[in-house]
Amino acid sequence: MSVGKVGDLSYVSVMSSSRRSFLKLAGLLAAGSSATPGVVRAADAARQSTEAVPRHIIHLVSDGTSSGTLTIGDYYSHRARGRGLRWFELYQNPAAQMAFVNMRSLNSVVTDSAAASSSWGSGSRVKNGMLNTLPDGRKLRPLYALFDEAGWKRGLVTTTEITHATPAGFSANAQRDEAESIASQYLQHKVEVLLGGGRKFFDPAQRKDKRDLPADFRAAGYTVMNKAAELDAAPLERPWLGTFSTSHLPYTIDHLASAKLLKEVPTLAAMTRLALKKLAREDRFILQIEGGRVDHAAHANDIAAAVRESVAFDEALDACLEFQRGEPGTLLVITTDHGTANPGLNGTGSSYSKTNPLLADLPKARASFAEMANRLGKQPTPGKLQSVVLEGTGYKVPDRKAVFLASFFAKKGLALYDSMNSETCQMGQLMGNYYGVGWTSGAHTADFVPLLALGPGAARFRGFLQNTEVFRNYLALANIDYRNPEVPLLAECGPAASEVELCALYV
Ligand SMILES: [Zn+2]
Repeated sequence: MSVGKVGDLSYVSVMSSSRRSFLKLAGLLAAGSSATPGVVRAADAARQSTEAVPRHIIHLVSDGTSSGTLTIGDYYSHRARGRGLRWFELYQNPAAQMAFVNMRSLNSVVTDSAAASSSWGSGSRVKNGMLNTLPDGRKLRPLYALFDEAGWKRGLVTTTEITHATPAGFSANAQRDEAESIASQYLQHKVEVLLGGGRKFFDPAQRKDKRDLPADFRAAGYTVMNKAAELDAAPLERPWLGTFSTSHLPYTIDHLASAKLLKEVPTLAAMTRLALKKLAREDRFILQIEGGRVDHAAHANDIAAAVRESVAFDEALDACLEFQRGEPGTLLVITTDHGTANPGLNGTGSSYSKTNPLLADLPKARASFAEMANRLGKQPTPGKLQSVVLEGTGYKVPDRKAVFLASFFAKKGLALYDSMNSETCQMGQLMGNYYGVGWTSGAHTADFVPLLALGPGAARFRGFLQNTEVFRNYLALANIDYRNPEVPLLAECGPAASEVELCALYV
């Protein structure tokens, strides 16, 4: 009995202690939420504690990368390169911190890239389609403006148009389709490294305002580049604008198949290495690196293209890890902004015994769906479809399946699931017979995303995070005291709220 009492007392004592701690914490949080911005507290904490803080931050985004894309990418990588993705190897590193992140936007649990990048870039959720701008038009101060004031150099490297949503979310205020304005804002903000595609948005012959933006960049001291060789020779002491394609850079699968493209267009890993070589001269820098076309390939349900983009991203990650080994004051944050179309490698055959042999066909593909669509032209015949798919992937499409697919190219096809009613989704379904990979749709998904951090400050990126916390962590680690305004989630609104119509557009 007495033992029992001792046990009970001990239990009560522990509970009381926990409760006191909880109440103390709750009091601190309440005080913070009513008066002092959270970032100020976090920054103070970083200053007062012994927490190691980074001098360099590299934020790596593999855009639109579902768990299935990573998994299949890892299996593909083993077959194609004899080793898996570095991203997964890092999970074995005891110093690596891991988190899942809720990337939802202001108006939907399914984010687009603009709202996702804005959440990292402003610490505030915005509606899909918006870059660092609230629904009432208020502009949020972007991460790169704040880091500039604090003396950090900044870089954006991507395989998409450089004005695309993910890079723009760190530096611009706009709607995501206002690419020409975003290009001008990069000059206004003097972002030191800009490497990617999207030359047309800088070109006076193609811009609505006819502004000669490359000339203005040059006047501001930039080295302006269009070709890979120019990047190799670019002076390290000047800021860089490199646009290596009129639109997005080519898919890796098409890039590797073309000697001309290989000569003209740098890989993501090459751009990353050179950006790091240049920025290594600076005392402090923050660099966003985006593997942007994983997302595009997944939208197209093109697994052969998607896994090659995953490997290209992984090679850029390798370059960052190599840099970090020489510069241990570097924080790496590796993540994605949302799932896209959630591919899955399905069990096929008796005891799923056909799945592994199907994977063996993945390295045989030599063309993206986009490239095959170029070769097909408008309204291809079933025979043309068979020959182009055979040449691009090695798959001999059965006659009746070729007829069914041709009906979609002729806009006469009908899928039972509305979100699969497109040529590309049907191509994805067709190739599922060959690769064993199925898809959920051609759209983004609400999946919580993985985030992995390594280096000084990594401990802040642990557990289950909200996307907006990434911004707050970066500011705290750089000793920047600032908080952007936030507004309540629109998708949570009840039927009486004025935002219902806005919600209905997206939910
Ligand atoms: Zn995205």
